[in-house]
Amino acid sequence: MGTVALNNETKPKPLKEKRKWIYAKKPKGTFYNYRQWVGYTLLLFLFGAPFIKIDGNPFLMFNILERKFSIFGQMFYPQDLHIFVFGMLIVMVCVVLFTTVFGRIWCGWTCPQTVFMELIFRRIEYLIEGDWIQQKKLNEGPDSDKRAWKKLLKHSIFYAISFLISNIFLAYIIGVDELYKIVSDPLDAHIVGFIAILLFSFVFYGVFAHVREYVCTTICPYGRLQGVLMDDQSVTVAYDVNRGEPRGKLRKGETQVLGDCIDCKLCVQVCPTGIDIRDGLQMECVSCTACIDACDEVMVKINKPKRLIGFYSMGQIVDNKNFKKKNVRAIAYSIVLLGLMSVFVAMIFSRTDIGGRLLRAKGSTYQLHEDGTVSNLYTLELINKANKEMNFVIEPTDDRMKIKMVNDIHMLKREGHATLSFFMLTDRVNVEKYKQDVKVNVVSDGKVIETLKTTFIAPPDSK
Ligand code: SF4
Ligand code: SF4
Repeated sequence: MGTVALNNETKPKPLKEKRKWIYAKKPKGTFYNYRQWVGYTLLLFLFGAPFIKIDGNPFLMFNILERKFSIFGQMFYPQDLHIFVFGMLIVMVCVVLFTTVFGRIWCGWTCPQTVFMELIFRRIEYLIEGDWIQQKKLNEGPDSDKRAWKKLLKHSIFYAISFLISNIFLAYIIGVDELYKIVSDPLDAHIVGFIAILLFSFVFYGVFAHVREYVCTTICPYGRLQGVLMDDQSVTVAYDVNRGEPRGKLRKGETQVLGDCIDCKLCVQVCPTGIDIRDGLQMECVSCTACIDACDEVMVKINKPKRLIGFYSMGQIVDNKNFKKKNVRAIAYSIVLLGLMSVFVAMIFSRTDIGGRLLRAKGSTYQLHEDGTVSNLYTLELINKANKEMNFVIEPTDDRMKIKMVNDIHMLKREGHATLSFFMLTDRVNVEKYKQDVKVNVVSDGKVIETLKTTFIAPPDSK
């Protein structure tokens, strides 16, 4: 078992190389139908999710500006960073695992770039400019009013859709309520937000109208990782070279002595990244399956079995029947994934309703009092992570300690935060060493909802 070598001729192209515009033939077939179902379901989810709320919280929100996130209606704050990092780690392991087993299927079927490009933008292009041959003629033909109008119409629609996507994208970041304010309030009240929407719109427009497959073949780092993540057991879209070669045109009345590939090049014409799958496993292949559909149609017409191009592992193709499946890497990743998921679930369930940071007040030292007590001044930052207003009290865990509040705050609004100052004091006879650990409980409705640790300093009583 080892990683799979990508075809040398098709290693990532440098960005400065002259762009060859790709005219992809309109795809059709069984896989394309499935892909449409998957894609439209995802689009529905993508456009609908920001409008869904659970207990008043957005279903999904990634507010990096205010450092608060909502996942399935559960709010996460900077104090929950460890949970969030764990979640991201799980997503990464999922991607690695999925790639190890199924190749780059994520790219061709579920990546928003492909879903938007293939199911929205390219379809509009087919509608306005026709299939690939007409598009090529239009672009390479002379300037005309017809061409100008078609281009104007296409790019106006592209920009309008990009503007819509940009709004949805922003809704995932700032939440749909904030987005509504930007849209409905006077322009000068949210000028930054408005500029952000326009900027995002231009970026999306640029990506879908011009950059296109370059995102998958050159910009996105995931594609470049393929060779490392995949091995000879990974199943991916591949051409059965044993069956197909030697390729050659099928002529009337000829008894077939060649392989099954009749070199019709339909698989190349439908490819959105402009590659020839018959050249072997290539970084540019996004596993969209358009070539499988195209070739299956040809095989049916020439009375040959389908799947000359299909889902195969390199082991199956090179080693054919002797190939034994034993994907150790996939099993190892699955075990790691299960472990991470268990920790993640434990973290979610042990998550407290309140987040806090307790520190001795900056630059302060102990205070000795005439009545024989000693005190330290503390600063406590609290944030309410529950979906409701919360009343609370602060209590030391050690009975010999007492708390004297400086600013007496006992209530946090929903999503509210507060900075409290208080003295913790004790009889000096209780001080055993200069620096000792102390804990305070945050108690709400008679229940301890968080315990915070800090230190208490004072010189021990020498008497
Ligand atoms: S579509 Fe099939 S038969 Fe035609 S060139 Fe491609 S692999 Fe060969
Ligand atoms: S080679 Fe086939 S599966 Fe890969 S991107 Fe091209 S059409 Fe899609």
